[in-house]
Amino acid sequence: SNGLHFRPTRAEIDTHALQHNARLARQHAGDCHLLGVIKANGYGHGAVEVARAINGNVDAYAVAFIDEALRLRDAGFVQPIVLLEGCFSAAELPVCAHYNLQPVVHSQSQLDAILQARLVTPLAVWLKTDTGMHRLGFAPNEVRQARAALEACPQVASVTLMTHFANAEVEDHALNQRQHDAFFDLCAETSPTPAVSAANTAAMLSRAIDLKTEQGHWCRTGIMLYGVDPSAHTQTTELLPAMRVLAPVIALRDVAAGEAVGYGSTWRAQRDSRIATLAIGYADGYPRHAPSGTPIWLNGQQVSLAGTVSMDMITVDVTDLAHVDLGDEAELWGPNLPVCRVAEAVGSISYELLCRVSERVPRHYK
Ligand code: PLP
Repeated sequence: SNGLHFRPTRAEIDTHALQHNARLARQHAGDCHLLGVIKANGYGHGAVEVARAINGNVDAYAVAFIDEALRLRDAGFVQPIVLLEGCFSAAELPVCAHYNLQPVVHSQSQLDAILQARLVTPLAVWLKTDTGMHRLGFAPNEVRQARAALEACPQVASVTLMTHFANAEVEDHALNQRQHDAFFDLCAETSPTPAVSAANTAAMLSRAIDLKTEQGHWCRTGIMLYGVDPSAHTQTTELLPAMRVLAPVIALRDVAAGEAVGYGSTWRAQRDSRIATLAIGYADGYPRHAPSGTPIWLNGQQVSLAGTVSMDMITVDVTDLAHVDLGDEAELWGPNLPVCRVAEAVGSISYELLCRVSERVPRHYK
């Protein structure tokens, strides 16, 4: 628990939920291969523990960069690991080759570094195509040449073609079909079709994007593993939230109508009120900009944030709670309060809330 032996504030990580979600992902993937996306410390859940929990249900892992991958190798995982941002320098390439890390190649300079490398073991690489997201990757008219160069290179063992959807969680977004067609037209240029990868969680769950028929497809599933459906359209109810963030009530007071609470006096009591102070704040990853009214779960009821989030504490209006005592534990998000609801209230997304739970919140695994 990270040297935090006494702190009651914590994130409980349900490894059975992770396992369950991975099993569901496996079912949704059908005949496709499955890449478990565990970058950013497993979206805040602990990369090593997530890797362990989903082990039997994924074929490989994906992280953002090489150091995240080496942590998994240090922990003993031997499966292939894809580096979604690729390599930042040529010095990483021999390390990739040695540890079977598979970089995404998304730029000409990365491609040149691979072509010039002298490696003992050839690399498996993922060639990224920019089909419309315009963040990373070769334009479709550049891909043919990049692919030919990689396939002709003795340092390269295999090339998987990939792309990434910008709007897969918006079912009827016009860009989905455009990206899909641009990508699979490219893939169809040669036969047999190369190994390919386009789907994230939203694309896997979408009824509009059909990838199941694509042979040899690698689904890259992240957020679903953690029990969150990114789309308002599908809302896969079988998913189980894997993270539950808890913080105790450390102070209680009555505040007279008209009095303000917290920094900047941003919340003012409209009636005589009872205020509970919880031991969690923005240094723990609770969003600093959460507005008053943001939902919190306490003693079987929904209560709401009252006043500005402090570094180590928040204040909550518990006037309508039947009972509340010092030491009672509030759930900031988890099985009783889906993280997507908190994200919506604070103008963020589940991904950000999960991966920003900071190091000083001990993870308790069950
Ligand atoms: N593929 C790429 C390239 C990504 O960057 C990500 C996550 O951001 C994923 C797949 C996984 O996406 P999701 O968590 O929505 O399944």
